[in-house]
Amino acid sequence: MTIPDKITTWKIIEPPVLNKETGRIDAGEFELAEVPVPELASGQVLVEVAGCAICRLGADSNGAQSSIPLAYEISGTVVAGDDAWMGKEVLIPAVLSCGQCDFCVKGIGSCCDNPRKPLNHWQIPSCFSSHILNSGSSLFEIRHRKRSLPLEHLAGVFDALMTPFQALQRASLGSGDPVIVIGDHEMVQYLVQMTKASGAGTVIAIEWNQLHSQESVRHGAHPEFIINCTNKNAETITAEVKMYIDKERLVRSGWKVFAVTGSKSAQETVRYLLGYASKIVVLGCSTAQAKDWIGKLEETDAEMMGVCGCLPGNFPQILKLVTSGEVQVSPFVLTRPMSWIHETFQEINSLAQDKRIILTTDDFGLDFNPEPKSCR
Ligand SMILES: [Zn+2]
Repeated sequence: MTIPDKITTWKIIEPPVLNKETGRIDAGEFELAEVPVPELASGQVLVEVAGCAICRLGADSNGAQSSIPLAYEISGTVVAGDDAWMGKEVLIPAVLSCGQCDFCVKGIGSCCDNPRKPLNHWQIPSCFSSHILNSGSSLFEIRHRKRSLPLEHLAGVFDALMTPFQALQRASLGSGDPVIVIGDHEMVQYLVQMTKASGAGTVIAIEWNQLHSQESVRHGAHPEFIINCTNKNAETITAEVKMYIDKERLVRSGWKVFAVTGSKSAQETVRYLLGYASKIVVLGCSTAQAKDWIGKLEETDAEMMGVCGCLPGNFPQILKLVTSGEVQVSPFVLTRPMSWIHETFQEINSLAQDKRIILTTDDFGLDFNPEPKSCR
């Protein structure tokens, strides 16, 4: 356990900003700095950062521009502070619902009246740092991590998996249930993996980003049927689903449909699929407008519900899904050393859109001339 003499950190001079009109992120400006190790109060810990996830999709505030959440979850190891946490590998989420307000009590953490942001307001200029200070009450222990799963790959796990986790709960997904997963976001491939891990029956994946499905297959989730939707309209996609269901003599109703409806095409396709659905769970941020759903819903006797996030009480179960290998995250992350922070934000509009970017700590603290190191 090494307690540092000082903490190396990338101060944010100009925050990266998402331009809502162009959809592009302007890179921002960072400056390398060293700060003293803060004094730890009772219950506080110092975490040596392994990975710091960046969320490119979290900017959903109104207006032409909005600052993106710069660091969206950290994985690391406790190196000082509260004895109960010493030496443990932990995740620190971006947001924690309170667990006590009316919404939380009803299980709707995303509407929490009093959410906490554990990565804000500490005495270190940014989360892009060698170490960060935090409260032990914001930590989630990573248990039984296999060596083949790098600690840094776990940064971002809660943000990526908590909404799919809640979606499965809300749909009461049972063993053998037929499932359709539809959308164009990284959540799609996690939904495919999680429905399979939960014992779903036939899983049809309808994807605008074929890479996700290919990776899901390669890593063991194996949806029974994959439709790549590139250049197809909603009628064509629905016809392919119908043809498959008929050919395989599958049930024509009672499907649980998980709809990541970020794009208009995905939303339109969901509307065409309503006739097959018993439950439709809608998830994912969207600026697209769905039309004509409600009238169609009445004809189908289906239930529709929206989900966003889950309660922190579910986080240990999510971690277990990942550390047990039931849900693979490594194929869906792109790591960059933190000394590449400028280059990473400059390239962020073109960097692997199907993967989550995680900045990893490197030896940036050893010199003050941050030449890019090898890109892992
Ligand atoms: Zn609450």
